[in-house]
Amino acid sequence: MSATENSISLPTELLPGDGRFGSGPSKVRTEALQSFFEAAPSYLGTSHRQDNVKDHVARLRSGLSALFNLPEGWEVILGNGGTTSFWDAASFSLIESSSQHLSFGEFSSKFVTVVEQAPHLQEPEVIVSDPGSCPSPVKSQVDTYALTHNETSTGVTASLSRPDPDGLVIADATSAAGAIQWDSSEVDCYYFAPQKALASDGGLWLAACSPAAIARIEVLCSGSRWIPASLDLGIALSNSRKDQTYNTPSLATIFLAAEMVDWINESGGLTWAEDRCGQSSGIIYRWAEERSFARPFVANSRERSPVVCTIDFEGVDADAISAVLRANGIVDTESYRKLGRNQLRIATFPAVEPADVEALCACIDYVVEELG
Ligand SMILES: *Cc1c(COP(=O)(O)O)cnc(C)c1O
Repeated sequence: MSATENSISLPTELLPGDGRFGSGPSKVRTEALQSFFEAAPSYLGTSHRQDNVKDHVARLRSGLSALFNLPEGWEVILGNGGTTSFWDAASFSLIESSSQHLSFGEFSSKFVTVVEQAPHLQEPEVIVSDPGSCPSPVKSQVDTYALTHNETSTGVTASLSRPDPDGLVIADATSAAGAIQWDSSEVDCYYFAPQKALASDGGLWLAACSPAAIARIEVLCSGSRWIPASLDLGIALSNSRKDQTYNTPSLATIFLAAEMVDWINESGGLTWAEDRCGQSSGIIYRWAEERSFARPFVANSRERSPVVCTIDFEGVDADAISAVLRANGIVDTESYRKLGRNQLRIATFPAVEPADVEALCACIDYVVEELG
């Protein structure tokens, strides 16, 4: 940091109550940590094959079914390794041979690479759009359509819709699940990790699966394809039905995710969470539109994410702003490193208080004034 940046100290009365605005891992609610602290002595360090832990897996699975209002026949399955492992698992256990991908940022393009490199799959069809926008799927001959609900690297939210009644639709919802509504008739497998909108910790993947997705898993996992056991969704399915994982999960991640899902359900469900995120993100986008030095990166306001707000800066160094914020306890507002823009990226997940977002905007104004 330069001498100027180093010497900027934000007035205490401007500071948000909680300074965590990262897009993942994201803010974990203090209330959830308190419950965890109380439960931990008789929970952490106990067997994941016993009811003591399985009850929390069951609480998480049924809480998610309620949150997403899943129709009869859908199942929530889980396993270790986060979304990145789920992509590998999907390449073995969900894609039969051909897939179409919408690629519009770092995360959606990573799944494309997984499929391109899989020797047992065909070259994927890839529909690309520039960062800051999103493409639409096109009906094709493929057996699987791979969508992304919220591209966390750019702050773009896509609407999830089925391009073809025959193909399986799978959607990466890592930063959307629990914050943005979706229609289960448009998707077959809605998968995510809980360290973003679900305010838990990393290392786990979760997937809400339709009967068609379950049927696909059962066919592929009982066929002749070699599938590593930890990426075999058939094994994950049978373990999930017993409220277990194939191998040892992080018990803390499960507990904190279940706490968050219960909190959202008790507060008014997905509609409530989406409204709250819309309120928080609205504060940032309106603030940026009113400033001469800032503007929302995503041009089409309907594609602007309600949970990951990307704001471009002009005439002031965004890295300097995030460095000063960090030195004052407001962390993880840096832009996605590979996007290479003069930008801040601010998460407004359900755990974040709208009042803290207001405070953050006032802090940025203060920093810009001082840097100027
Ligand atoms: C963070 C993220 C991932 C990667 O999740 P991991 O659990 O770290 O593997 C994948 N997709 C999206 C959309 C993400 O935001």
